[in-house]
Amino acid sequence: QTAKNWSESVIKQDEIDKYLINGKDFIDENEINEKLKTNVNHSKEDIRKIINRSLNINRLSFDETAALLNVKDEAIWEEMYAAAAEVKRRVYDNRIVFFAPLYCGNLCVNNCKYCGFRNENKDEVRKVLNFDEVKKEAEAVIDEGHKRMIVVYGEHPKTDANYIAESIKQIYSVEKKAKSGKMNRIRRININAAPMCVSDLKKLHEVGIGTYQVFQETYHKATYNDVHESGPKSDYRWRLYALHRAMDAGIDDVAIGALFGLYDWKYEVMGLLYHTADLEKRYGIGPHTISFPRMTPASGSDLSTNSKYLVNDEDFKKLVTVLRLSVPYTGLIITAREKAELRKEIIKVGCTQTDASTKIGIGEYSGVDKAELENKQQFTIGDPRPLDDVVRELAEMGKITSFCTAGYRCGRTGEKIMTLLEKTEEGKFCKLNAVLTFREYLDDYASEETRKVGEKLIEKELKEIENMKFYKAHKLTDLMTDYYERVSNGERDLFI
Ligand code: SAM
Ligand code: SF4
Repeated sequence: QTAKNWSESVIKQDEIDKYLINGKDFIDENEINEKLKTNVNHSKEDIRKIINRSLNINRLSFDETAALLNVKDEAIWEEMYAAAAEVKRRVYDNRIVFFAPLYCGNLCVNNCKYCGFRNENKDEVRKVLNFDEVKKEAEAVIDEGHKRMIVVYGEHPKTDANYIAESIKQIYSVEKKAKSGKMNRIRRININAAPMCVSDLKKLHEVGIGTYQVFQETYHKATYNDVHESGPKSDYRWRLYALHRAMDAGIDDVAIGALFGLYDWKYEVMGLLYHTADLEKRYGIGPHTISFPRMTPASGSDLSTNSKYLVNDEDFKKLVTVLRLSVPYTGLIITAREKAELRKEIIKVGCTQTDASTKIGIGEYSGVDKAELENKQQFTIGDPRPLDDVVRELAEMGKITSFCTAGYRCGRTGEKIMTLLEKTEEGKFCKLNAVLTFREYLDDYASEETRKVGEKLIEKELKEIENMKFYKAHKLTDLMTDYYERVSNGERDLFI
């Protein structure tokens, strides 16, 4: 099958039409513009009331979110930064979940103007990993100490749903010995891949993917059409309902995102909120996470450097803050696209997940010809530090790295996890699993320096756990003491 034929055959119109309401999308551009236009100049008191609703872990309305986006007073923004950090603490405590991205291929039938992988970029050296290479990459990622991956695919017949499913099976099968002698493996695989039809999505569900992530890029249709000239991705609606189809295929753990820099950032935040609200309305659960990649320079892409909507660092912090306040119980992902200093700042206003030791060249973890690499990656990385350095920096800030993957293996996904998050209870389970997996990391992979800082943090965490009523009431204190001892003695993968 040629790329062109495949491109034409992939979209199933009936799997778009069934989600339209009276022929319309859930994104109503006029309504978003109206809300952004009218919710201006709210009093400090009004804004504080909205902040308080968020502090009580309520999802904010469209109007409330627009009001926050339009705040001008820097002193109020300072209050919002502090509130966002507090919301994060209440729902997710001081944990940060780590993952590593793995790029399986850079062949792509689409022509996204901002991406180095786009079909018409003749400078890009194309490669799809075979399954032996995929396994080698997985081994190298395990060697860093990771337990979670997001596997990323271009859209191409050579990396179709069957390839994706097989690559996931292969990665789950890899085991690698740590320097401590303990065997480790990737325990959760999330994917970032093109929109698919329900029958293909079922194949991915069957092999046990964690989260299925699709970014809308921009919710503004005219901009969307302008930057996606050809290929299946040029169909705005096929992408807009990708995660609705995933839900219908049984994948109840989905993730959304927008590529900031294509259109007005305030509009995109509203778009992400409308998307969240629509998933909640139809399926009872919103997205597990929201991503907000900022467009970074990509090979051969003028747009990636000269778009008039590029978001500066200040506005970036503001948009993440509003998202944190607006959707208190949704995970927020900041990636290594950002430079170390900024990432540290942004984590403070409420991110729950990040990546480290990130390599986005195809085959880069396990070592490919370095000279070729330059034109084998999608964009540029801002913070290339190894996992150990980032873990240590966070531990110094009092934040514990979690490699927890218990949630989905204990059935805490979908509606169940959302209810726990809304009641601020999920964070309490995660705190236990964070300590157990951090202990594993310190023993299996950490440098001496990181181990020292990490142990102090674990001590503090264990004291908190011992004193918390929640754990006593749920009879978890003794279980945790037992598990912690067993992990310290070398048992692996115990979770609560
Ligand atoms: N091909 C699939 C797709 O487009 O959905 C998945 C992989 S694509 C490599 C993953 C994401 O990378 C895109 O959704 C986009 O948001 C992001 N991306 C593309 N070009 C970028 C750039 N220049 N800077 C930052 N992120 C970019
Ligand atoms: Fe292909 Fe995704 Fe890049 Fe677009 S963003 S060119 S679909 S890999």
